[in-house]
Amino acid sequence: MSEIIVGLDGLYRDGIKLKLEFGNDEQIAAIRKHERKIEQFKEGFGPNYNYTVKGHSYFSCICGNVLRSEVDADHEDDILCFEGEEKECGSCKRKYEYIIERDYRVNSSGKRYVSNEDLVVKLKK
Ligand SMILES: [Zn+2]
Repeated sequence: MSEIIVGLDGLYRDGIKLKLEFGNDEQIAAIRKHERKIEQFKEGFGPNYNYTVKGHSYFSCICGNVLRSEVDADHEDDILCFEGEEKECGSCKRKYEYIIERDYRVNSSGKRYVSNEDLVVKLKK
């Protein structure tokens, strides 16, 4: 038997409105539980939450079919999220991979650093 739900205008079980029965322990328990929930929301209830940032990209396959990718990103403008992503064309079965091409420079103290990052798609070997 499923749980009794307290709706705005009465008690329900499986979407069917129940007749209120005086002294029905299950109904009383459901109402008490409901009242505790209401108290929680009056105080302010802390929801579970998370952020989702997505990277979207698309390109035309050699055959002309448009291939789209959607990947999870840590933040906006995060091209690194595409790195290593692979895509197979649904029509011609060519395989592609997303690669980050990096340009390096050396700073005045001789340390190598990434001066530029470009996202490119290459045919997979
Ligand atoms: Zn194709």
